[in-house]
Amino acid sequence: MIRHHPTEALLMAYAAGTLPEAMELAIATHISLCDTCRAAYGGYDAVGGALLDRSDSADLSDGCLTRTLARIRTETPEPRRQSGSAGALPAPLAGYVGESLEAVSWRPVGMGVRQAVIATTGEATARLFHIPAGTAMPDHGHNGTELTLVLQGAFSDAGGTYARGDIEVATEADDHMPVADISADCICLAVTDAPLRFKGWLPRLAQRFVGI
Ligand SMILES: [Zn+2]
Repeated sequence: MIRHHPTEALLMAYAAGTLPEAMELAIATHISLCDTCRAAYGGYDAVGGALLDRSDSADLSDGCLTRTLARIRTETPEPRRQSGSAGALPAPLAGYVGESLEAVSWRPVGMGVRQAVIATTGEATARLFHIPAGTAMPDHGHNGTELTLVLQGAFSDAGGTYARGDIEVATEADDHMPVADISADCICLAVTDAPLRFKGWLPRLAQRFVGI
């Protein structure tokens, strides 16, 4: 049961295609796990479709339709991904990091926490975190927006408990210290569009090397 969703503004920006790629990845992954947001997104998408229908058309070059149809007929579709296996990743994420979490090349960032930066273009950065059960992440604030989507396990902070599919939206007004639940290692996708503000000197020192 998913309890924490992206804001309406984020879903609308996703439907409009104006989000940086890394944020788009987080929202697309949440939508793939959340029926409520998939339905809301469908509504915003229909608005975009209605706008397209009403806009003046621009002519494409001669032969455009023929070339497009030719490509559709010759290109073989990608094989369908297996889902439901252990450690399986939701489809939008699997397109970036591979079929399963075992395929991710993790790098240690201290305290047993590991990360894997996901290559995206644009103003925001996406990374996977593997946080050992019971571990507290350093207390931090935000210079921009931070989206955290849980893929496995759960974490808690002052805002509540976040489990698989839940997304936390933190902004400049929010400080928090996420703690991974004791029951299982927590794996999450974290997207930031500005550096975090750490309180302690040790995380601040580590920040220079890790680049969060
Ligand atoms: Zn949702």
